[in-house]
Amino acid sequence: YSSTDVTRAHLDRIEQVEPAINSFITVTPDAALAAAGEVDRKRAAGEELHPFAGVPVTHKDLVVTAGIATTAGSKMLADWVPPYDATVYRRTKAAGLPLLGKTNLDEFAMGSTTEHSAFGNTANPWDTTKVPGGSSGGAAASVAAYEAPFSVGTDTGGSVRQPAAFTGTVGVKPTYGSVSRYGVIAMASSLDQVGPVARSVGDAAALHSILAGHDPFDSTSLSGDVPDFMAAAREGSLSGVRLGVIKQLVGDAPTGGVAEVFRAALDVAAAGGAEIVEVDCPSLSFALDAYYLIMPSEVSSNLARYDGMRFGLRVEPDEGPVTAETVMAATRAAGFGAEAKRRIILGTYALSAGYYDAYYGSAQKVRTLVQRDFARAFESADVLVSPTAPTTAFGFGAEREADPMTLYLGDIATIPANLAGIPGMSLPAGLSDGMPVGFQLLAPAHEDARLYRIGAGLE
Ligand code: GLN
Repeated sequence: YSSTDVTRAHLDRIEQVEPAINSFITVTPDAALAAAGEVDRKRAAGEELHPFAGVPVTHKDLVVTAGIATTAGSKMLADWVPPYDATVYRRTKAAGLPLLGKTNLDEFAMGSTTEHSAFGNTANPWDTTKVPGGSSGGAAASVAAYEAPFSVGTDTGGSVRQPAAFTGTVGVKPTYGSVSRYGVIAMASSLDQVGPVARSVGDAAALHSILAGHDPFDSTSLSGDVPDFMAAAREGSLSGVRLGVIKQLVGDAPTGGVAEVFRAALDVAAAGGAEIVEVDCPSLSFALDAYYLIMPSEVSSNLARYDGMRFGLRVEPDEGPVTAETVMAATRAAGFGAEAKRRIILGTYALSAGYYDAYYGSAQKVRTLVQRDFARAFESADVLVSPTAPTTAFGFGAEREADPMTLYLGDIATIPANLAGIPGMSLPAGLSDGMPVGFQLLAPAHEDARLYRIGAGLE
């Protein structure tokens, strides 16, 4: 098949299923076909191309794309067309991956259901009455619904892994700093990472290898060679591998169905040659609290730039004088949704004079404890495992809106990796009541390739 054929087939599929799924905020058919035609022409001319050149991709609408609207799922940026490209988008373009479009997300990546988008809900392709997870819900749904072969998402506290779990796809959060965040709209900078969603471990490895690598435009970007993720995925092995079951994440937390599927997956792994050990990470009982202090603190600071003056939405007050302050207040009141406001207020409070040490400072100490617990656990296990989320995908629900805590609690298994900066993968483990269950693997920092080798062994 030519890239034009493949790209057109995906565009047809998008047209067919989007009314029911709504994975996309923007579809870019003309640009996609132009890029595909370019790859076909180069291939015909015998030019050397990336092995995945011509395979189309989607980017979460948090990734800045020159000339193509980038909304972050927010009214604040509804009409913003960026003047530059994020490094990860530049990299997929350079590899010859045509862009099918930009996928839906919770506003500024804050949420676990994609219901906090200003552009409508995304449905779970397995059951359209259920959420696809979030915040990269559009990315995961586009892959699960065969609208795209793979997709670029972001993960600050689980936003790639949890939607992957909810949609039966593979999602990876790379080691902090290993994929450039330049041009990726910031949520919580010390936690944010870009990562792939795909239908197989091998496809995730392919996209990950395109995304990763040093970027002088991102001051947190790691230097050094990118390991061969695709070779690791091809190797796929379980023999002699020690899987460390994290005690704190498999107690009573996962509901019946999820725990059962998880245990069955462990049995399959053991039959395949893996050794199952139990590891203790006591500090994980504080991880959620630490995350929900550090994250909003950084959110309140990162979102301060949406002031109605520099770019994006500008709203003037209905009455009274038009000053910097009143424009800022009117713009932010109109532009941010409820969840963004909640986190800005929480973060501003936590960072305010007199509270900084008590909140942000203490949370940073918990972060160190989580890192130490993981380091100790990795002495007796090659990867740490748990269910990715305590439940499978649930229904859309305004009732949850009244109690954001219930949603926050669902992040318990994914946020520790972000706090520690280590890589994590969610892969499909089976079904519970017809809905996919995710199996999470965590590896030490810089050992992302290990996730692919063991993940492919489990697949
Ligand atoms: N669900 C988490 C939150 O709401 C994670 C978000 C993310 O990873 N972007 O903060």
